[in-house]
Amino acid sequence: MQTIIEPFKIKSVEPIHFTTKDQRVNILRDAFYNPFLIKAKDVIIDLLTDSGTSAMSSEQWAGIMRGDESYAGSNSFFRFEETVSSITHMKYIIPTHQGRASEKILFSITGGKGKYFISNTLFDTTRANIEFAGAEGIDLLCEEGKQPSLISPFKGNIDLIALEKTIQEKGVENIPLVIITVTNNSGGGQPVSMANIKAASLICKKYSIPFFIDACRFAENCYFIKQREKGFENKTIFEIAQELFSYADGCTMSAKKDAFANIGGFLAMNDEALAMKCRNLLIITEGFPTYGGLAGRDLEAIAIGLKEVMEEDYLKYRIRSIEYIGDKLDTVGVPYIKPTGGHAVYLDAKAFLPHIPANEYPGQALCGELFLEGGVRGVEIGTVMFGKYDADGKTISAPMELVRLAIPRRVYTQSHIDYVAEVIIKVFKRRETIKGYKIVYETPLLRHFTARFEQL
Ligand SMILES: *Cc1c(COP(=O)(O)O)cnc(C)c1O
Repeated sequence: MQTIIEPFKIKSVEPIHFTTKDQRVNILRDAFYNPFLIKAKDVIIDLLTDSGTSAMSSEQWAGIMRGDESYAGSNSFFRFEETVSSITHMKYIIPTHQGRASEKILFSITGGKGKYFISNTLFDTTRANIEFAGAEGIDLLCEEGKQPSLISPFKGNIDLIALEKTIQEKGVENIPLVIITVTNNSGGGQPVSMANIKAASLICKKYSIPFFIDACRFAENCYFIKQREKGFENKTIFEIAQELFSYADGCTMSAKKDAFANIGGFLAMNDEALAMKCRNLLIITEGFPTYGGLAGRDLEAIAIGLKEVMEEDYLKYRIRSIEYIGDKLDTVGVPYIKPTGGHAVYLDAKAFLPHIPANEYPGQALCGELFLEGGVRGVEIGTVMFGKYDADGKTISAPMELVRLAIPRRVYTQSHIDYVAEVIIKVFKRRETIKGYKIVYETPLLRHFTARFEQL
């Protein structure tokens, strides 16, 4: 196979600051073994998130200069609105400063005590906003999605039978909306098939429940549909995206993902009454409806990024560059969620460190070791992020213990990625000596951002 090269040249560079292993021992201890508390300057390869970390294109930077900063009715807003509308065909498009602001608005209006929001898998901020609004989130991931080593094309699908059963059990009046995350970030960046989206949307229609999409990585999901689902081989990503959104009544979006923007997001929907309520809350919390917490220049960057992300040369390189890490890990049998997803490699910490129990946070321990070994920063998606305590204070563990290595868009080259694979393999070779952690400080919601740990 011919090498798939980065479909861009580099015009502006940012230096990487190298550290030694001895320095990293101190850095990690000073950060209480929490990667979120490490200073960026002390990280060699930063795979903490693909959110807001994209390299913008020269066109986007040109758009930044063109940004119209008028408070009301700016040109940049209309360019943004037109682009979002061409992809989603939604009637009401509401800019926000990032994905969770869209969630905060949507769920504080539709949520409340006794309400349930059903999903394939809710992302951490989505679940937190649902719970903050007094409601409950229910994840109904398909069985394939729960088996990390199983190769299957659409492991992000929602379990359709469970969806209908849950609607009947909880009662239609208690389910304000169903929201499907594409690709499924917390479940390995796995895609959702068009057939699954269509079927879920039909079930929602049957019960008159609005169907939403958490669209952060819609383009990556559409590329998987093109590659893996019959009937989409010859369609453009734009056409596939249009069909995907045609099944939805609304969507939330973080433009920090598949829009190559460093900040931004939106909320879109067809229901006028709901849109009015959202806009009113937007004015109080984010800003006037034609800028919603963003500068005009951000709206420009998003509008341009949304078009660039649907280019197939880019998506081919993007998806292949993630798969490439997986291929390297396979050479020594490092366990990870297979097949690789859209934006990240998810190491299976439970299988990587089988001697560390969930209440000693194997994912967090693995993150620490990757940093010590090579200055690589990833994030735990496991019991630190999603664990709870029962009435007796015993840990209720998360279904999977993962370490996500998210690849920023258009930022790192192949040799950076080769280095990351080498670091993972080195840690894998000495895995038996790795010890777990205990938590010494935590907050009730989204504790992973600020929790402090000690090595056992
Ligand atoms: C990042 C993300 C969000 C939240 O977006 P922010 O811009 O970080 O607030 C919501 N859902 C998913 C699936 C995400 O990946």
